[in-house]
Amino acid sequence: MPVGVVIVGGGPTGLLLAGELRLGGVEAIVLEQLPAPSGLSKALGVMGRGAQTLDRRGLLDRFDKTLQKPAPFAHFGGIPLDLTRLECGSPALLAPQAEVERVLAEWALELGAEVRRGHEVVGLAQTGEQVTLQIKGPDCAYDLVARYVVGCDGARSLVRKQAGIGFSGTPATQVSRFGDVTLTDPGAVPRGMRRTPTGMFTVVPLGDGVHRVVVSEWRTGADRDAPVTLDDLRAATGRVLGAEVGMDRPRWLSRFTDAARQADRYREGRILLAGDAAHIQLPAGGPGMTTGIQDAANLGWKLAAQVRGRAPAGLLDTYHGERHPVGARMLSFVRAQGVMLSPGPQVDALRDLFGELLTEPATLRTVADRLMGLDIRYESGDHPLVGGWAPDVKLSAGRPVLVDHTADHRLLAVAEGWRDRVDIVTAAAGEKPAGILVRPDGYVAWAHESGADGLTEALARWFGPGY
Ligand SMILES: Cc1cc2nc3c(=O)[nH]c(=O)nc-3n(C[C@H](O)[C@H](O)[C@H](O)COP(=O)(O)OP(=O)(O)OC[C@H]3O[C@@H](n4cnc5c(N)ncnc54)[C@H](O)[C@@H]3O)c2cc1C
Repeated sequence: MPVGVVIVGGGPTGLLLAGELRLGGVEAIVLEQLPAPSGLSKALGVMGRGAQTLDRRGLLDRFDKTLQKPAPFAHFGGIPLDLTRLECGSPALLAPQAEVERVLAEWALELGAEVRRGHEVVGLAQTGEQVTLQIKGPDCAYDLVARYVVGCDGARSLVRKQAGIGFSGTPATQVSRFGDVTLTDPGAVPRGMRRTPTGMFTVVPLGDGVHRVVVSEWRTGADRDAPVTLDDLRAATGRVLGAEVGMDRPRWLSRFTDAARQADRYREGRILLAGDAAHIQLPAGGPGMTTGIQDAANLGWKLAAQVRGRAPAGLLDTYHGERHPVGARMLSFVRAQGVMLSPGPQVDALRDLFGELLTEPATLRTVADRLMGLDIRYESGDHPLVGGWAPDVKLSAGRPVLVDHTADHRLLAVAEGWRDRVDIVTAAAGEKPAGILVRPDGYVAWAHESGADGLTEALARWFGPGY
């Protein structure tokens, strides 16, 4: 028997997706090539809608309370955004990626997902009703047959390549070398981001006396596969800062670039892509993990319905339909930030202008919402809430919820045929809108100020025919 869904890659995207599929009642196996979590963190936080998405599942409660706070500051291409000036702040989870992965793995396992570590996927092919994966396990090589495969295998995704999905976009114009190091004289090192005529130097404290030093240079050609050494980081620091910075005991050394690419399509038959496998971006303002989390939340319930034979026609394709434009918009925003970070007097002028514009609360809100993914809207409908993020509602069970505020609870009767798939909550009458239908990923499928017009159609469109 084929496995329901095999997820290639146990990063944040793959692990969240595994939990989402289990909530949808589908078998999920994660294949992760690393034998154990590395404990290293690329990302240092989950911003905005990513944090809200975790909150909807009750997952923020699993993190230290001190890590959950409205983000006080953010930046747009290095220009500080004072979010405390906004009436309604922007949520953030300031947890390192390793901690996010630990929590998501724990949650997925509790829900019954299987996570196989030390299992590298080396090939895959789809034929008709299934996908066959070739795997190099810790003890032997073996094949696994799945009904669907999701590539959550990061920027260099083997799944994407083997599915023949193009990855178009813009090539790197800069290279950033970074190291989690101990500074020999932390007090003497400039904090935050410093642009210079030759690049940018950034220092972020990580705790326990470790600092992340990032040195960005607008020249390419570095061998992207050669390991970064401490001497490389020191030399780049000298070129950019014009001074030496004492650093040693590197915990981790690596690099990233501003290449911005996106999979041409997020689905090829029974193979889908999510997270960095579907889009790569400069980590400016934390778009990567945040976007991957939302990809997983959007895909999970749709793919679960598909595997269980309950998906209405076309539901699975709405994953590409909704998330591809969001990914493209995010990449465009990140490209703009990449330009703002680059050196040169023309960019200085642009930054001056943007700095002024960002003192306007409305502009600040627009840019902050874009940065945090808080302006995502999948469609517009008869009611202004449709297609947007639902007002406060917990969706820990990962099921759609219909909230009925009508005086005679008439929505209850309309939705009777969907009770097996949709949770219905009757609440005090008089609230507006009188009815709201929320998808498992937290977005509004339907809303009405007073009655049930369009509810049957919305239920059938998203959750299949009623019984
Ligand atoms: C320096 C830096 C700072 C960043 N800061 C932030 C931030 O603050 N906020 C933010 O949101 N994002 C940030 N990002 C981006 C973020 O780290 C990524 O977007 C995120 O890791 C993507 O998660 P993912 O699960 O899609 O992919 P990955 O984290 O890349 O996970 C992919 C997994 O797949 C596994 N894998 C790969 N190939 C195979 C295979 N063939 N078989 C089995 N397993 C395989 C890998 O081992 C890996 O565990 C940052 C990135 C960098 C480089």
